[in-house]
Amino acid sequence: MTTPLVRFAPSPTGYLHIGNARPALFNWLFARRHAGRFLLRYDDTDVARSKSEFAEAIPVDLAWLGIVPDLVIRQSERLAIYDAAAEKLRAAGRLYPCYETADELDRRRKRQLARGLPPVYDRAALKLTAEERVALEAEGRKPHWRFLLEAREVAWDDLVRGASHVDCASLSDPVLVREDGSYLYTLPSVVDDAELGVTHVIRGEDHVTNTAVQIQIFEALGAAIPTFGHHNLLTTASGEGLSKRLGHLSLRGLRETGVEALAVAALAVLVGSSDAVRPVSSLDELANLVELAHVSRAPAKFDEHELEALSARTLHQLPYEAVAERLQALGIDGGEPLWLAVRGNLAKLAEAKDWWQVVQGPLTPAVADAAFAATAASLLPAEPFDSATWKSWTQAVGAATGTKGKALFMPLRLALTGQEHGPELAALLPLIGREKALRRLAGESA
Ligand code: GLU
Repeated sequence: MTTPLVRFAPSPTGYLHIGNARPALFNWLFARRHAGRFLLRYDDTDVARSKSEFAEAIPVDLAWLGIVPDLVIRQSERLAIYDAAAEKLRAAGRLYPCYETADELDRRRKRQLARGLPPVYDRAALKLTAEERVALEAEGRKPHWRFLLEAREVAWDDLVRGASHVDCASLSDPVLVREDGSYLYTLPSVVDDAELGVTHVIRGEDHVTNTAVQIQIFEALGAAIPTFGHHNLLTTASGEGLSKRLGHLSLRGLRETGVEALAVAALAVLVGSSDAVRPVSSLDELANLVELAHVSRAPAKFDEHELEALSARTLHQLPYEAVAERLQALGIDGGEPLWLAVRGNLAKLAEAKDWWQVVQGPLTPAVADAAFAATAASLLPAEPFDSATWKSWTQAVGAATGTKGKALFMPLRLALTGQEHGPELAALLPLIGREKALRRLAGESA
């Protein structure tokens, strides 16, 4: 295959949410797996709803997920290219002016429905004579422009859904240009995909009908048709759709909860698929797990509890290199040994700070039986400590004090960490070190 070029094409009308993360990730992972490139395209032709704060947030939120686009374009800067394409369609008789108001169209639709007819645009505007058009414009009406669909079936081999087809005879001719001359999404998307040589269009299945229409537009423009794939849509656990404008489950909101981006990514693309959702330690690993052909056809349910659990499991297996920078940013200097000691106990990465504090001190130890603690202290071996030190030391303490199990381990844990629960002491003891261990066993803050 030629080098794939995929694109993610959000409208900057809200913060990206977990549902938007899915096409972004499906495209990004596809590009990673096939050594392709990833285009970020701002679908910002709707000037009224597009906001710069949302536009600025998009690359930040994508970067959190690990997505860094190879190129970025803005539709609002490319209007002349769309004008040229529209002109080409007009010249070919495929784009025609219509003068109906929204009210008129609505009444017409209702009459059709009342008569049991499909509410398809009746192409009345195609029958207007030149004089009638002039008369309508003299009334002050401005045309919107519809694409003349060919009444035939459009078929494609979908990366997710397999052989797919839509009968365009049952569709209304889509409006491509509004009365004010602005473009709806349909045409600019095709023009950009054609112009930039997008090879694969991977997007939600809410675009299946658009695909049939857009394939006819690609053909009308004489452009190469990309390969299409339509993934299922995400709903909340109770089955409702996610709304970008509500900011529901926005990526920034999720980031603030401290959830792992890799868990968000894995859940976003594996949820509801035939492959179990499992923790991954890199997007490349995830790229190799995602098979578009295995993505379920049923809506995928997003469960926040599942995400939390996956986030914890993700942390538990992440190698030190994957978190080193973030640990340093949190002021945690314990390096790989600390990470390996504590990762299994974390629900959120930031909790590593608490364990770093336990290792570093000072903390107030809990020593209930001073004599027991003194015996334990006297048996603490000389440094260097390693992962076997804990076992040999506690064997010696057990033998000397006649204790075992919880009666042996709990007082030592309470003295060394001040807490009843925590990471394996075999891993923590070498990090705490002999000097601090002795002071804590003596009940001193250290
Ligand atoms: N702006 C469109 C959307 O967010 C892009 C769809 C597409 O990928 O073509 O739904």
